[in-house]
Amino acid sequence: MNLNIDLLQKKFGKSLIIKENLSKYNWFNLGGPADIFFRPENKDQLVKFLKEIRKNNYKIYILGAGSNTLIRDSGVKGVVIKLSSKFSDIRLLEKDTIEVGAAVLDRKVSDFAQNNDISSMEFLSCIPGSIGGAIIMNSGCYGSDISKILLSIKVIDENGNEKEIKNDEIKFYYRGTNLPKNYIILSAILKGTVSSKQLISEKQEELIQRKKESQPSQIKTAGSTFKNNNDKKAWMLIKESGCDKLSVGEAKISEKHCNFFVNNGKAKASDIEKLIHKVKKEVQAKTGVSLELEIKIIGNEK
Ligand SMILES: Cc1cc2nc3c(=O)[nH]c(=O)nc-3n(C[C@H](O)[C@H](O)[C@H](O)COP(=O)(O)OP(=O)(O)OC[C@H]3O[C@@H](n4cnc5c(N)ncnc54)[C@H](O)[C@@H]3O)c2cc1C
Repeated sequence: MNLNIDLLQKKFGKSLIIKENLSKYNWFNLGGPADIFFRPENKDQLVKFLKEIRKNNYKIYILGAGSNTLIRDSGVKGVVIKLSSKFSDIRLLEKDTIEVGAAVLDRKVSDFAQNNDISSMEFLSCIPGSIGGAIIMNSGCYGSDISKILLSIKVIDENGNEKEIKNDEIKFYYRGTNLPKNYIILSAILKGTVSSKQLISEKQEELIQRKKESQPSQIKTAGSTFKNNNDKKAWMLIKESGCDKLSVGEAKISEKHCNFFVNNGKAKASDIEKLIHKVKKEVQAKTGVSLELEIKIIGNEK
């Protein structure tokens, strides 16, 4: 590492942690440390930090709520940036339009919208991530996804330059976008439709109930492991291939939903990754379909 760590720590104080264990920042509860873990308090501090580390060609990874990410056991060589709660403001711009910080949790946005009589954001109450993660993943469920309510985003690139990007400048596809990897989303403007608190609340409840019935809860998982971008849903292909009962160490497959892979308590990230490879290989052999990973895997191989 070429950086003067002491100097960095002096400059960024408690926002910067060296060798921070990442297991507490993701839903699998797995993963080793990040060389440098940075939680900016505000945009200016983020810009200053990016300019500082730019000179050293570090690989930068952005972490949201970690609900779609598997972090390898040996951790992340480089920098992990996780926006602090200071990037979690939500404010009403117009009667159907809100501005939200990228670190705010989706369900909080859904609740804020409900409180302000804004519909079309009910689905966000079912997704456990942050708004930044939802945009990068084009997250959604039950026929909705974030691309349908997004007007624009504010991003910062690795050089610290800020820009606004409108929805029609972004290509959204199933669980992804064409946004460059080096963009850090700071905030977004979302537009819904005006409705009544009561109706919105009923819709939220209905969706949450549907989720509870079809998917497991209170487990260490990152949700759907593989994308549902084939004729058959990933869980069907996994079941048909006889993979739904496979396991590697303490890495298991949920009995309730076989596209949800689970850390049963003592799994290593490498167990989850091996299970992923095993299932992918088996499904390919039995059905001819090559499953595409939905979750993101980050960190060093060794
Ligand atoms: C129980 C469970 C249920 C789920 N159900 C659904 C569902 O119904 N529908 C669905 O679509 N997904 C679902 N997911 C997956 C996951 O919740 C979503 O993909 C979510 O939007 C990820 O957000 P996150 O903040 O946790 O992202 P992370 O996992 O932290 O990151 C995901 C990606 O987003 C990037 N990212 C995050 N924040 C930023 C930012 N500010 N700027 C730039 N890049 C950023 C990361 O670099 C990474 O590439 C589920 C997951 C779980 C655990």
